Amino acid sequence: MEKPRSLITKTVEKISHIDIANQLKNPDLLTLQFEQEFAFALEKEIPKSESEINVIDFTNKYMDEKAKKYINETFSIESKNVHKIPHKILIQIAKGAGALYIPAMHHVFYSEALPQPLFIHSVNHEILHAKSYNLFQSIKSIKNESLRDIQIFRGGVSFVSRDGKFVYLENLNEAITETIAKEATEDFYKKTGLDKKLDNLVSFQNTYYNINSKPLLNRVEILTFQKMGEGEMPFPVGFSYEGHRRFLQMLISDIFEKNKNNFSNLEEVKEIFFESYFTGKLLKLQRMIDQTYGNGTFKNLTKIDRNKHGVQNNTDKIAQKLNAYILELKERNINK
Ligand SMILES: [Zn+2]
Repeated sequence: MEKPRSLITKTVEKISHIDIANQLKNPDLLTLQFEQEFAFALEKEIPKSESEINVIDFTNKYMDEKAKKYINETFSIESKNVHKIPHKILIQIAKGAGALYIPAMHHVFYSEALPQPLFIHSVNHEILHAKSYNLFQSIKSIKNESLRDIQIFRGGVSFVSRDGKFVYLENLNEAITETIAKEATEDFYKKTGLDKKLDNLVSFQNTYYNINSKPLLNRVEILTFQKMGEGEMPFPVGFSYEGHRRFLQMLISDIFEKNKNNFSNLEEVKEIFFESYFTGKLLKLQRMIDQTYGNGTFKNLTKIDRNKHGVQNNTDKIAQKLNAYILELKERNINK
């Protein structure tokens, strides 16, 4: 894809609006703007606990390690960029989510209502958005034609049209983000022993409520637990974007099945998606998909996964359409 003119990159190679470019290079310069725009949320900011600060610092480094495999430079998301706010304030800016990444500002908001394991997972997810490929464009401000606004132009594998009106592959991008975040969270659970704790809680509940030998809870999707009197109860909160992870998984497995001469395992196919996510280079991904299913397939994906910018993305509906389309591709059984 040809890069449009007057883009500002995080490495600031292409600069046409020097002030904005400098701001992006040095996010501290954006602080004033951020503080004004999000004053309603920042006024209600709740101090983070020490363990929350530790989780944020740890995640920042952990995701840098992940990204380093593909890129040299990332945005640093420190605890001062991550804000804990009341749940009723967060839902005004992030419908239905427990946390939100503000790309052009490099800030994250999260709800105080998140139980600890869910907090860890949300931090993983949002910080990953910041570590993936971020590219910005400056467009004429809607409020004042003589001013320029900074808008995200590329985030991971997703991209916005040059007029700023449409965003493409946002759902594929969430599928990749949540897949990597889930791996990171599971890794963290294993290292801290949280997974054993959840295993035990879930298996206790399943034995206790053994109805017609059907397990009550599915451990794979149990992310957290809640305090119940003296004890703790598994709390069936799944990882997010279930439908998204399903179509991505199906696409990866099917590409592998149809290209066994090119790939020796599933991980190698997954790597192509991850590489595009961090480098922003879509060509390899596009080629792999088109060579497997025929020319134009990648373009069809961008047509299905398209949304008006700034309008609430009907993500479940798009995920359903993507699942249906990928299933059709899978069954079409065309090899090249
Ligand atoms: Zn996300």
